Amino acid sequence: MGNQYIEQAENALLHTYNRYQIVLEKGEGVYLYDDEGKKYLDFAAGIAVCSLGYGHPRYTKALKSQVERLVHTSNLFYSKPAAEAAERLKRAAQMDRVFFTNSGTEAIEGALKAARKYAYTKQSGKYEFIAMNHSFHGRSMGAVAVTGNENYRTPFEPLISGVKFAEYNNLESVKAKINDKTCAIIIEPIQGEGGVYPADKEFLEGVRALCDEHDILLIFDEIQCGMGRSGEMFAWQKYGVKPDIMTMAKAIGNGVPVGAFAMTEEVAGNSLKPGDHGTTYGGNPLVCAAVNEVLKIFEEEQILEHVRKITTYLEESLEKLTAENPNVEARRGMGLMQGLVLKKPVQEVIAKCMEEGLIVISAGGNVLRLLPPLVIMKEHVDEMMQKLEKALA
Ligand SMILES: *Cc1c(COP(=O)(O)O)cnc(C)c1O
Repeated sequence: MGNQYIEQAENALLHTYNRYQIVLEKGEGVYLYDDEGKKYLDFAAGIAVCSLGYGHPRYTKALKSQVERLVHTSNLFYSKPAAEAAERLKRAAQMDRVFFTNSGTEAIEGALKAARKYAYTKQSGKYEFIAMNHSFHGRSMGAVAVTGNENYRTPFEPLISGVKFAEYNNLESVKAKINDKTCAIIIEPIQGEGGVYPADKEFLEGVRALCDEHDILLIFDEIQCGMGRSGEMFAWQKYGVKPDIMTMAKAIGNGVPVGAFAMTEEVAGNSLKPGDHGTTYGGNPLVCAAVNEVLKIFEEEQILEHVRKITTYLEESLEKLTAENPNVEARRGMGLMQGLVLKKPVQEVIAKCMEEGLIVISAGGNVLRLLPPLVIMKEHVDEMMQKLEKALA
């Protein structure tokens, strides 16, 4: 075929991704268009980022008006969007203090630093982290150190020391790794990248109890499963198990690069102080105008109620497919974060979906991952099912 932009990119970008040979140009609602005008139903949302779909009028208007006013200030100053976004986000997350970052990875770095500083302030001598097998927390040296996938870690060792891995949804395994040096436990309430595994309620409750008993901080990574995807604003609210520190990113800005970590007053008051942590861009007026408008839209357009309703329909459709299609082994997931365990090579099926005009992604090797914009309707679920069935044939 020979596409000019693919050639340009291949010759200039570092080869760190196996990209699909598609140049995306435009988005509208829950559809994307490539540079040849081909239309795709989007069930990936830029990896759980574009939750409100593309071209949401209020979102576009808020960003445009902020661009015209002020894009950047540095964190030496206050700004109206940052003040409003922080206040809204802290309320939605039921946390006391928020720090804005530029990505999920940076939110993880901040959360790990806050936990270490807390131990330092308390002079507890604690520094170890317990993370989960099959977890994913990002690609920086700190984030990769707590990521439960050896392929991501080994080439970059030595990483930060004092990290132990336990089995997800196995309380005994977590218990066995705890000692008097354990400073924090980090968990995704629903594992994404690792294969779409929701936590068991008893597991999270059990870990919370262990943390309370041993004076350990509980960190939840809500970067992928947060912001309405589970049917609650944050997945922990669905489980009723509150962390001490939580990380957010992806959908909080609906596409502008922004993340955050938040914490309780107890952690905030005993951890990061002026000089301990910072960022030049983090929480600038542009991204905060986005976060603020996204949160307003969630409230005013009843996004959570919609997610709960459409989830029932999506799950029924996927259950039916799982029961009837010999190439599908199982369904896992919660809300609009769903995985199908396939008996066929998943990349083959994804490629066929692309041909059919459906964008889906993979997780953990043999899982087809569905992360649609939260605003999908029944007709989009039906269209996805038709295309997916063809791709599975
Ligand atoms: C995507 C992701 C990250 C990393 O976020 P980036 O914005 O890519 O740095 C961390 N944790 C989880 C659970 C994620 O899904």
